[in-house]
Amino acid sequence: MDYLPLFVRLTELPVLLVGGGRMAQRKANLLLRAGARLTVVAPEMDTELQTLLKEYNSHWLQQSYTDDCLDGMHMVVVATPDRSLNQTISAAAQLRRIPVNVVDSPELCSFVFPAIVDRNPLLVAIGSGGNSPLLVRRVKTQIEALLPASFGRLVKFAGRFRKQVAEALPDPERRRRFWESLLDRPALQQQLESGDENAANRSLQQLLSSQDSEPARGEVYLIGAGPGDPDLVTFKAVRLLQHADVVLYDRLVSPQVLDLCRGDAERIYVGKRRNEHTLGQQQINHLLVQLARQGKRVARLKGGDPFIFGRGGEEIELLAENRVPFQVVPGVTAASGCACYAGIPLTHRDHARSVRFITGQLQDGSPDLAWEDLQGEQETLVFYMGLQGLNTICEQLQAHGHAGDTPIALVEQGTTSHQRTTISTLREMPELLRNREVYAPTIIIVGSVVALHEQLSWVEETGKPGRWPPQPG
Ligand code: SAH
Repeated sequence: MDYLPLFVRLTELPVLLVGGGRMAQRKANLLLRAGARLTVVAPEMDTELQTLLKEYNSHWLQQSYTDDCLDGMHMVVVATPDRSLNQTISAAAQLRRIPVNVVDSPELCSFVFPAIVDRNPLLVAIGSGGNSPLLVRRVKTQIEALLPASFGRLVKFAGRFRKQVAEALPDPERRRRFWESLLDRPALQQQLESGDENAANRSLQQLLSSQDSEPARGEVYLIGAGPGDPDLVTFKAVRLLQHADVVLYDRLVSPQVLDLCRGDAERIYVGKRRNEHTLGQQQINHLLVQLARQGKRVARLKGGDPFIFGRGGEEIELLAENRVPFQVVPGVTAASGCACYAGIPLTHRDHARSVRFITGQLQDGSPDLAWEDLQGEQETLVFYMGLQGLNTICEQLQAHGHAGDTPIALVEQGTTSHQRTTISTLREMPELLRNREVYAPTIIIVGSVVALHEQLSWVEETGKPGRWPPQPG
């Protein structure tokens, strides 16, 4: 982070503004709204700014800037077009450790003003460290659209009853759930929008008196996190992640997806690198039950889809046995994520009429598969966990009816920014990879659809499915 975002209380604190033009007026407006005791120093001043200062009983020091103006100031904002004067003021303020902002000169600032979405008392501040004001404006517009104008009323309403609710519900967990269920009610929003505070108040009191003293009930969400790109996570997954108090995740869950969890949620890494079982499957199953029994909402985040080579079935079996409520949220499985991002359609009318997902996990040193079943004409084979057995897979498929020149793709770290796709044939792939480092996780796709990658390789350039037809060059 280049800057630490903070919210500064300026009420009644002396702040100096240098400049009397339009830019100074904008800053004056902002500082006065924040309650600052403003002094504006400028030999001349626009009439609008003069009116504003009168309205707020603020002080105009009608003179040129001198260093004495800084005496006793908590903050300085400079809005003059005179570059050398701005430099002088910035240096003097920094020498005295007074936070200083010079409009449109980030190099002279010790702090910057963010763009603001104002739903007072809710404030959203957005900054890009000066890199892209355009993108900041876009984000601001998106957030503006997301927060209804009346949102501030909702926040104030919650603030007014905070103490009463805290006394009625001393358990923080139960309190959080109370607020969630109250604030999620569309009726409450409407009541506040129409200014019917009494009705909103009644809704709150009703819900509060219906709270029993039973401990909060826990539940488990088994969530598919997709293959890596956070854009591939479902809305439902994001919503539940925002509710979860605890998140259990393993190696396949990308850090960007983990960032979608609530900031204060406890995160538990349960490992599962090949040969590195931080927690055994049994222990994970029991931990889920145990946490839910403590009244927690537990998200079990699994790479891809929880029911495709995810052992999701085993985890919910124990939950069901113990009568722990649960939900399962599907995710984009590695096969479809990697295939799409690599430009390999898994089925195609001219090439493959079916697709098989196969585990290539080694049992006693070799993939334990019924090879004779895998010679289907016009079928795409996708091997999960197949890297260790890649040579065996290539050999055995050839020994059981596949031609040596059958196309095969290896997709490493699919859908992430590190995705790499290697295309070869069953005959040549083992040799091609012999002296090359391969980065897990990887998926193997076998079948003539792989050859279409050539035509569709435009996908690779952006890392994501882009526009059709491929852009020249
Ligand atoms: N439930 C997961 C699969 C878990 S098994 C799913 O539906 O995708 C783990 C295997 O998935 C890995 O060994 C690898 O073969 C595959 N895999 C998962 N994520 C992948 C990715 N981003 N790129 C390539 N392969 C991936």
